Amino acid sequence: MTITFGPHTIRPGQVFFRSALSYGLVNLKPIAPGHVLVVPHRLVPRFTDLTPDEVSDLFQSAQTIGRVIERQFRGESLTLAVQDGPAAGQTVPHVHVHIIPRRFGDWTNNDDIYVDLEKSSVARVDNPERPPRSEEEMAVEADMLRPLFGETAH
Ligand code: AMP
Repeated sequence: MTITFGPHTIRPGQVFFRSALSYGLVNLKPIAPGHVLVVPHRLVPRFTDLTPDEVSDLFQSAQTIGRVIERQFRGESLTLAVQDGPAAGQTVPHVHVHIIPRRFGDWTNNDDIYVDLEKSSVARVDNPERPPRSEEEMAVEADMLRPLFGETAH
């Protein structure tokens, strides 16, 4: 089965979680260790395009993934973010929830995380500040995460 994230074809090795209607994806350009994405299987750009079942599955998946990610990356909190449309900073036109483990003091000004989120966009893959990760590096992280989700992860 081909896994798509907007215009990108995703290698199965990058996926660490699957539910009926969503999947969890390690990030090409994470802004912090453990920054992952939750994506509906159906390729639609905007949050309002999702059916009630898809919204429910996406957010239940975000809850499950957030719980594991926070513990695994020794977080004290989580940032969950949806950039819903290009004017809001969305660069991949396929709904996704960013999940980012947070610790006190990780960003000097808390909301500067959104500046870094902007910089991590794939449209700026040539940004030397944050080069994209290799397939191998992403696969190692997905392999580490997958077993933490038991039966739901395929
Ligand atoms: P946004 O700017 O909210 O649309 O977020 C796009 C996110 O997708 C950023 O965190 C990128 O690092 C991430 N991203 C873009 N392309 C890929 C890809 N092929 N695999 C994994 N993550 C990606």
